Amino acid sequence: MEFFDFHHHKKNITNGIYNLDIETAPTDFTYSIGIHPKDINVDDLESQFDWFHSNMNENCFAIGECGLDSLVQTDQSIQEKVFLKQIKFANDVKKPIIIHCVRKFYEVISFKKYAERPLIIHGFNKKQNIAEDLLKNNFYLSFGKAVLYNLSLQNILKITPLNRIFLESDNDDFDIKTLYQKVSEIKGISLENLNKQISENLETIKNG
Ligand SMILES: [Zn+2]
Repeated sequence: MEFFDFHHHKKNITNGIYNLDIETAPTDFTYSIGIHPKDINVDDLESQFDWFHSNMNENCFAIGECGLDSLVQTDQSIQEKVFLKQIKFANDVKKPIIIHCVRKFYEVISFKKYAERPLIIHGFNKKQNIAEDLLKNNFYLSFGKAVLYNLSLQNILKITPLNRIFLESDNDDFDIKTLYQKVSEIKGISLENLNKQISENLETIKNG
């Protein structure tokens, strides 16, 4: 069985969504493209957007990771402008958006009104009330390695509907299968059915 890695940064994983590094060429397997808050260069935004706009091909699954990050130096207002521009581009090219968010969940939720495509929070690792607010607002949650040992995150998974879940390795080095196994235990379904569900979720956001 193959397990889809929803968000990662490793070129050797082809069954998943590889997140392109800023200003690099698209891969010949599935990728996402976006301007991460940490990569925003205010003196060079125009060429960053040129890169972003001109590197879409049939392997592009999603826009991202993009979003808001309170730990990044770049002004919040600039981060918001860059995020909004990417949301609007995702509307135009009809792609879902993979969101990076650090301590800015309510701001991110407030941007939902501009988005016409599905929004997925990647690497979700926060409190239950935030998860509930995101789910109420139709966000998808993608979970990573922390699920393997973080009990409160395991509890959040219990209340997250199966049709709103993705699983990812991000920057962490581990076998994604162990995460699928853990989640199948937590949700009380077979590995096979979990895998099928994730494929269905992918179809849903693709057609979103
Ligand atoms: Zn990442």
